[in-house]
Amino acid sequence: MSKIKVHDREFVKSISREEIATEVKRVAERINKDYAGKRPLLLGVLNGCFMFVSDLMKNLEIECEISFVKFSSYQGSETTGKVNQVIGLSESIEGRDVIILEDIVDTGLTMHKMLETLAESKPASLAVASLFLKPARLRVPIEVKYSAFEIADRFILGYGLDYDGLGRNLPDVYEVVEQ
Ligand code: 5GP
Repeated sequence: MSKIKVHDREFVKSISREEIATEVKRVAERINKDYAGKRPLLLGVLNGCFMFVSDLMKNLEIECEISFVKFSSYQGSETTGKVNQVIGLSESIEGRDVIILEDIVDTGLTMHKMLETLAESKPASLAVASLFLKPARLRVPIEVKYSAFEIADRFILGYGLDYDGLGRNLPDVYEVVEQ
């Protein structure tokens, strides 16, 4: 099945589960190398990161911890441009090597806010790993050290990413068919 309908829109398969597995493994290998001898704290940004986090962690061989934070700036398939507060960070990140795990960096506003907020807690280092990056959409300069896929400016869903609550369970990634 390469075409699906979710709510009112049609989507076509654009990235297969095999391609995702390969690229997630590649990111994990880079992290294994860069953080050898360290014990980074991975910080997953819910909800969309859950499949990425799960598959990435299975490929990490270094000692590492995981925690999750949440905030949302997104509704439906258009960014609202409004970014809310970070919630759920219960442990101290002072002096820690923190790697933020995000499903997708679009305008970068969410990640910018996240980086600003976390930097206040004085981590030893802060890096961003994002499964998807839309370079053409970036509105603020942020460094995404690890990105598995750079994609075009099209709305996608699947592998943890949703369209109005649906589609997170799809193992492959689909992009919207423009009408
Ligand atoms: P940003 O602040 O970078 O514009 O938006 C980041 C958030 O918007 C992501 O964490 C994600 O929840 C949502 N988002 C951005 N682009 C897409 C997309 O193509 N598909 C889906 N499902 N969510 C997206």
